[in-house]
Amino acid sequence: MSANHADAELVERWREEKTAAWLYGTVAAAEPDPVKRSMFTGLAGAFSMAAGEYVSMRSQREMYEYQIAQEREELEHYPAEEAEELALIYNARGVPMAQARAMTTRLLDNPARALDTLAREELGLNPDDLGSPWGAALSSFIAFCAGAALPLLPFVLALGPRPIAWAAGLSAVALFAVGATISLFSGRSAAAGGLRMLLIAAAAGAVTYGLGALLGVSLG
Ligand SMILES: [Zn+2]
Repeated sequence: MSANHADAELVERWREEKTAAWLYGTVAAAEPDPVKRSMFTGLAGAFSMAAGEYVSMRSQREMYEYQIAQEREELEHYPAEEAEELALIYNARGVPMAQARAMTTRLLDNPARALDTLAREELGLNPDDLGSPWGAALSSFIAFCAGAALPLLPFVLALGPRPIAWAAGLSAVALFAVGATISLFSGRSAAAGGLRMLLIAAAAGAVTYGLGALLGVSLG
């Protein structure tokens, strides 16, 4: 696939997702029911997030592929320099130079393995996993939808006389849980992680509420 073709496809994909976002945004603006309006706004946001995620993951992947292609070219034209570069990397990690050179010579013997090794050691990339644009778009779409749908649940299910209190409570519990779960991966305190996520969301909520109030949108 040529670079121009890939660009055209990228722009096309981005336009499709932006169109979906715009469509839901327009439907939302015309919708009189506040709950349905929020759903459409959420969908518009989800499509917009997914489009952004797709484009950024796609450009990142293209940059990595370009770097690997450059490495392939260097390997083809200057194999001795590439071997020395790799030997220096191993030497910096503590392998004596003579041994590092011997290792490098053996590794670069096989052309396919040579490029793989250079990509990993010199560029710090895993050629088998350069990131999936569609995967990134899908997961951000689902995360955004889930995040937007949760506070709407009490309205849709008509939970009790004060759905807005239910919505706030449900969102707070979910946000705390997400923050605490993420902290498990970073080794920090779960309570602090949950609280941090809650505070960030509260700040974002306050800004959204302020904008809504300014624009005269109200959840009666
Ligand atoms: Zn190189």
